[in-house]
Amino acid sequence: MTEILNRTDAPADDLIARISDSPTGYTGVDGDEQWAAEIRRLAELRGATILAHNYQLPAIQDVADHVGDSLALSRIAAAAPEDTIVFCGVHFMAETAKILSPDKTVLIPDQRAGCSLADSITPEELQAWKDEHPGAVVVSYVNTTAAVKALTDICCTSSNAVDVVASIPADRDVLFCPDQFLGAHVRRVTGRENLHVWAGECHVHAGINGDELADQARQHPDAELFVHPECGCATSALYLAGEGAVPADRVKILSTGGMLDAARATHAREVLVATEVGMLYQLRNAAPGTNFQAVNDRASCKFMKMITPAALLRCLVEGADEVHVDAETARLARQSVQRMIAIGQPGGGE
Ligand code: SF4
Repeated sequence: MTEILNRTDAPADDLIARISDSPTGYTGVDGDEQWAAEIRRLAELRGATILAHNYQLPAIQDVADHVGDSLALSRIAAAAPEDTIVFCGVHFMAETAKILSPDKTVLIPDQRAGCSLADSITPEELQAWKDEHPGAVVVSYVNTTAAVKALTDICCTSSNAVDVVASIPADRDVLFCPDQFLGAHVRRVTGRENLHVWAGECHVHAGINGDELADQARQHPDAELFVHPECGCATSALYLAGEGAVPADRVKILSTGGMLDAARATHAREVLVATEVGMLYQLRNAAPGTNFQAVNDRASCKFMKMITPAALLRCLVEGADEVHVDAETARLARQSVQRMIAIGQPGGGE
C-alpha cells in the first residue's frame, strides 16, 4: 500500500491531504464523484470488496459492492472471491464477517463504531445468567459480540427468532438475549412460559415508542406500518392492532430485509417506517412510487453514522482498522451461527 500513499499524481491526493489536515483525523471529506472514484480505485488496488449495512449513509451505500442486513452481508463476505472485506457497519457485524471468513482480512472504517444493543450483555453477565439456569438453551440475537456468541447455543435474527425458539424442546428453559422487545415478541408468538428474556435494548429502537406510532397511525389513516421487532413500539403496534385502533392488516412486523420485500410488493401510497432512518434510503430506492416516512425521524444510530466517507477513504489508504477474533472464540461463535443457519433460511436481522 505504500505505493498508494507515495503517489503524487493520484486524483485523490488532495482528499487524503484533507484527511490529514482535519483536527479529528478524518472528518473532512464528503461523498462526491471524485471521492467515489477514488474509493473504487483503492478497493481494486487492495483487492477488497466493500459491504454496507442498510443503516449506512447514502454515499456509503452507493459506493459499496453490496448493501444489506448484517447476516446477509457476512454470508456475502464468506462467498466473495476477494481476500479483503471492508465492512461498513458496526463492530459486531464486522466480527461476524470475520467469524464466517477467518482466513480473510476484515476491515472496519472506524473500530469505535459500537452498538448499544450488543453492549447490553457482556460475556461475564451471560455466563452468570447461564449459571443461574443450568441446562437452559441460550439463544442470542446476531447483535452480539463474538465473545457472547461463543457462549451461545443458537444465534437468531429477527426473521427466524420464532423458528429458532420453536426448534428447542418445550421442556428446556430458554435464555433469550440481548433484546427485550424481540424477546417479548417471540414469547408472545410462541406462548412459551419458560423463555427468559434479558433486559437489553438498542437506544435507537427503544426511542421509537407506541405513543408516537399511535399518533402517526391516526394522522395517516391510509398508511401501512412497517415495524422492526426491536422497536419499543412493536408491542404497541400489535396491541393497537388487537384493539382495532389500527387495522391489523396495516401493521407488518418485519426484519430489514423483509421491509425491502414488503416495499416492492405493497400497493400502499404511504408507509410509516419504525426503525433506524437509514433504512428509508433503501426503501425509497426499492419502491420510488411509495411515500415512506419515519415514525421518528430522530431515530438515527450514531454508531452507524461514524462510518463517514472520510473514514472509508482512510480505511482503504491505511488498511485499518483490522478486526481480530481469536481462533477459539471464532470457532465457538461460528458453531452458534451455523446452528441457526441449519434451522432455516436466516434472512433479516438488522
Ligand atoms: S441501531 Fe441500535 S442495534 Fe442497530 S447498530 Fe445502532 S445501536 Fe446497535
